Amino acid sequence: MSKSVLHISTECYPAAKAGGMADVVGALPLYLTEHGWTPSVIIPKYNLKWFKNQVFKEVYSDVLNMDFVEYKYSIQKCQSKDLGYDFYCVDIPVLYDRESVYLGDDGHGYADEAQRNVALQRCTLQWLEHSDMQVDLIHCHDHQTGFVPFMIKHGYGYESLRHIPTFYTIHNGAYNSRYGWNQKTLLVDFPAELEMTIDWHFAMDAVAAAMRYADHVNAVSPTYLEELKTSLAPLKINMDIDPSRFSGILNGIDDQTWDPKKDDLLPHKLGRSWDTFKKKNKMALLPADIYRAEDVPLISFIGRFAHQKGADLLAPAIERILARFGFVNFFILGSGDKFLEQMVQSLRDRYPERVACYIGYNEAVAHQVYAASDFLLMPSRFEPCGLNQLFSMRYGTIPVARKTGGLRDTVIDYTEGGAGISFEWDSVDDLIGAISRSLQLYRATKEFKEVRDRGIQQDNSWNNSAKTYAEIYNELQHKLS
Ligand code: ADP
Repeated sequence: MSKSVLHISTECYPAAKAGGMADVVGALPLYLTEHGWTPSVIIPKYNLKWFKNQVFKEVYSDVLNMDFVEYKYSIQKCQSKDLGYDFYCVDIPVLYDRESVYLGDDGHGYADEAQRNVALQRCTLQWLEHSDMQVDLIHCHDHQTGFVPFMIKHGYGYESLRHIPTFYTIHNGAYNSRYGWNQKTLLVDFPAELEMTIDWHFAMDAVAAAMRYADHVNAVSPTYLEELKTSLAPLKINMDIDPSRFSGILNGIDDQTWDPKKDDLLPHKLGRSWDTFKKKNKMALLPADIYRAEDVPLISFIGRFAHQKGADLLAPAIERILARFGFVNFFILGSGDKFLEQMVQSLRDRYPERVACYIGYNEAVAHQVYAASDFLLMPSRFEPCGLNQLFSMRYGTIPVARKTGGLRDTVIDYTEGGAGISFEWDSVDDLIGAISRSLQLYRATKEFKEVRDRGIQQDNSWNNSAKTYAEIYNELQHKLS
């Protein structure tokens, strides 16, 4: 008999996306079904385009008392079957009726982030406690849902949920939710003697609580799990006590959405020839200013302009490459740090015939960049898994990635039989070295195409990883329920 798993998250593609977590929460459920688990997803109801185009039906309504404020809320179910799984959202207009998932107009996180995150967790649990919604396992995604495992086990008022196993995924261990103890009334009441078990450096700490109380914790790649042992002390402490409770499971990609043969966001879909696919998309993507010869290699970057992504290395490296090699174009898609945005724009202004950029977030442009490029740069300082390298291989683009986290696990250098170019250090010099190697490989046409083909053939879909998730779900269910 099929069992049910509820994913709790703040993002889910295509409803609401800020980064890779949305891709994971939107796609993993689709692949769990064939392993015996019926998935559903719950996220906040934001004021985003996708929500406006859907019909929702209220399935539950109640009042949440949180930090001396009463929030009226409802749980709504999306009536469309298009997603392939049941999709629910928590509707609290005063907290979620906004046009961005995390960021206000000033580019900073919302001031009531604590209320927004805890309300999602508590409303979901309250609904499960008081309705006939049956779940056999709860899967929490990142710190925004980190108190769920603790509250299920010890929160007053959730007694009927105690038997439900919890699974917690670390998508990015650099972010956390920490609330001072003067904000204790955000959480549901629980036995006072347990305070110290969710405390980390004198605050209630969502990640520390999840590390301690989730029945299973995974990071999104094996290497990132190892790296976290040196940077995330609560993980290290709990892992030393019981390593079997922790695992590293690589993300996959939704190979239906990301299919170059069917992708409606592309001006030119893949036909019989990869060369034609690349050339046509390259010509369509690059603006008229650029010297658009079909055989000039295109090297791109897609991502947040953040320290994590090494986005600050791009402009100086590209500038020095352009001083040395004329025969190359660059496309940069991203946004974030305003200083870096200016650096990229200024680079484009100085080399309009060689550099194009799109400052902002645009899903269609991202698909077009994967399709048009020959190489994709990922000079990340750390990378829990990284999805860009997986999308790029699927679209015949060779990833050029720093050896860190999930990039170390998925981008193997072509000189070692892999389908990418990898480099060691997060420095401008090492990035230049890697770009120079890309250009050399491009010139060795036969070898270039062999490497590209290896990437195209690599199975980066969810098939393997979804099976691993389902196996762990099964173990937890046998052990705990
Ligand atoms: P992150 O740390 O941002 O979650 P991932 O590699 O896991 O990084 O996932 C990034 C996802 O966001 C990919 O689907 C990528 O294509 C997408 N993305 C990043 N920046 C942009 C952008 N400016 N426009 C469109 N898509 C973007």
